[in-house]
Amino acid sequence: MVNAFIGLGSNLDNPKAHVIKALEELEQLPHSQLLLASKLYLSKPVGPQDQDHFINAVALVITELEPLTLLDELQAIEQRHQRVRERHWGPRTLDLDILLFGDQTIHHSRLTVPHAELPNRDFVIGPLLELSPNLSLPDGTQIQELLQSCPIDGLISIEA
Ligand code: ATP
Ligand code: CA
Ligand code: CA
Repeated sequence: MVNAFIGLGSNLDNPKAHVIKALEELEQLPHSQLLLASKLYLSKPVGPQDQDHFINAVALVITELEPLTLLDELQAIEQRHQRVRERHWGPRTLDLDILLFGDQTIHHSRLTVPHAELPNRDFVIGPLLELSPNLSLPDGTQIQELLQSCPIDGLISIEA
């Protein structure tokens, strides 16, 4: 059994509803249990700025799935939310990223873990800190240390 942190994001078509629905769908993941879900956070879009703000959250799942099987399951959930892949970092109904998979480091053509942008994103670091203040990355970096280069002051938490 491995603890996996999953990042959720949406900025299209009632984003809050997409994220809340996705959390319910994560409860149904095979051979897994949803342990914790963060509050919802409002964040500015990464990349193109001519799109709405995002609603983000992080979930902690304990799973027996292999990492690529978990990715398949997450992509199936994205598809159920009618996610259309348009431009890179463009608007989407639902984005599910594997942020951390236990203490594993994975370099696969379909999967990089820890998520490559984790240290640079306040909307990932904020909810991770909320769920697990003493969390560390596979290389030993404490998640709290990331605040020095990526402050989370601009992050707004909202009521679900
Ligand atoms: P970013 O990776 O910067 O958050 P994105 O989430 O918009 O960008 P997507 O279009 O959702 O990128 O995903 C592109 C591909 O990234 C996926 O098809 C998947 O194979 C790959 N990928 C690599 N590492 C991960 C990861 N840790 N979690 C989810 N997908 C990943
Ligand atoms: Ca993403
Ligand atoms: Ca993604």
